[in-house]
Formats: sequence, C-alpha cells, structure tokens
Amino acid sequence: MSIYKKRLDLHTHTDNSFDGNHSTMFLCEQAVLAGLRGIAFTDHVEIDAYEKDNYEKRAFQSYFEIVKARNAFLGKLLVFAGVELAQPTYDTETAEKLMNTLQYDFVIGSIHNLRGRQDFYFMDLTDTTDEEIRSMLTEYFEEELLLAQWGKTDTLAHLTYPLRYICGDYGHHVDIRDYSDIITKILKAVINSGISLEINTSGLRQKIASTLPNEEIIAQYRALGGELITVGSDAHFAEHLGLGLDEGLSMLQRCGFKKITFYQKREPIQIDIE
Ligand SMILES: [Zn+2]
Ligand SMILES: [Zn+2]
Repeated sequence: MSIYKKRLDLHTHTDNSFDGNHSTMFLCEQAVLAGLRGIAFTDHVEIDAYEKDNYEKRAFQSYFEIVKARNAFLGKLLVFAGVELAQPTYDTETAEKLMNTLQYDFVIGSIHNLRGRQDFYFMDLTDTTDEEIRSMLTEYFEEELLLAQWGKTDTLAHLTYPLRYICGDYGHHVDIRDYSDIITKILKAVINSGISLEINTSGLRQKIASTLPNEEIIAQYRALGGELITVGSDAHFAEHLGLGLDEGLSMLQRCGFKKITFYQKREPIQIDIE
C-alpha cells in the first residue's frame, strides 16, 4: 500500500508505441489494480522520423484508443490523452501541426537521438571513448536547452536520458557535475518557458538505479524557483505502471515541493502531495 492518496502516472506507453507491449484498455484495468488515481498515455512520436515511420497514423490510433478508454473508465480512473513528442525542435512545423490537430491533455517533450544519429537506446557504446561521450553529452544537453527554450511542450522529460545507456547499460563513468553549467541553463529555461520538469522513475528499476534526472538536479530546480513538476514511470509493460512514484513523491517532498502537476487540455493543474 502506498502512503500517497493521489498517485498519477504521467508517462506510459501502450502497444501503439513501437516498444510498447499492452493495449490501452488492459493498462487501464491494471492501473486501477495498481492503485493509480490517474494515468497519462504518452505514446512515442519521433518527429524526425515522422514520415518514414508513419507516426501520424500511430498518433491517431493511440489518441482514439485513449479517448475510448477514458470513457470506459469514467469515475474509476482519470485518463489523460498524452503524447511523447521526441525531437520536436528538429522539425517544429510538423510538431506544431500534430499538437494542433489532436486535442491532447498533455505533451511530453524529449530528445532520444542527436540530429542525424540513432536513439541512444540502439547505440552500441561498448568501445565509446570518454572524449566521444563528452562530445555526445555536450551536444545532447545543447539540444535539451533548445527544447526547453522552445517551450511548446508541457514538460521536459528524462533530462539525463543518455546516462540510462552510457552509465547504466554500458558502465561508463560520467560525472554529471561536469555539465552543471548547461544543466543550470536548461533548468532556468524550463522555468522561463513556464513548462514543467519531469521526474522519470524508470531508472530506479534499471541498472542506472536513479531517477532521471537525479535528486540533486531536482533540488537545484527547486532552488532556482522551479514549481511545476510531473512524475512518470515510463512504463512499457503493465507490471511497471506506477513503479517508483512513491520514491519520486518522497524525493519531491525532501526537495521542498508541496505540489505535483498534471495537465488537462494542456493546462497545468497543481495538487498537494498527500
Ligand atoms: Zn523517452
Ligand atoms: Zn517514454
């Protein structure tokens, strides 16, 4: 049993994501069993592969299944229509067109790959040198800064995403403090743009064993005046729904946050952490 009454998982994937595994309806049933009060489905749309991988069709399919599930679970579970828009800054026209076409509640912004490169998820980083890692991370954080400055998504997801693979899966050592200048700029840009920062709890169940970003960065965001924050498990399986939410919420309380944020029709709503 959780000590928290209002558990909302705001980052999850259905089988309308290329790496998702379960249907929207099944995930809703499991979310209720997992004691969630609400869930946002945020299937992948990789903007820089939009035409090539037929993301428009997938986005519509995902959206309509969410709307169906929202009606079916009325009164039992809050269901938010979301999307994880990756690399939107690489083609803002396509990104904005999609955001204006479907009536999303919540749009997550993320970067999974550098321009013209593959997703870190697919990279073989076994023999990558420290110098290459430094150059990739520098470029990655520059892209995160552009995404935060662009400010048209609702939240900035998994700020330290490449570390899941570089440090977690491949065991390279990275001192995140070497990037503190650019990370400070990103956090300030998130605040200036009026968007929220995401605590992605997936890392807690993966080799990296930490939230993305980590507690130190969350505390810094708070110290800089950051108030809007979302929490999501990034579940790709039903059994991962809600995992790490309690840890995420206690981390927020330790960092001085009193409220968490969710979105309805793209408007932030803050509720007490209790
Ligand atoms: Zn992602
Ligand atoms: Zn995701």
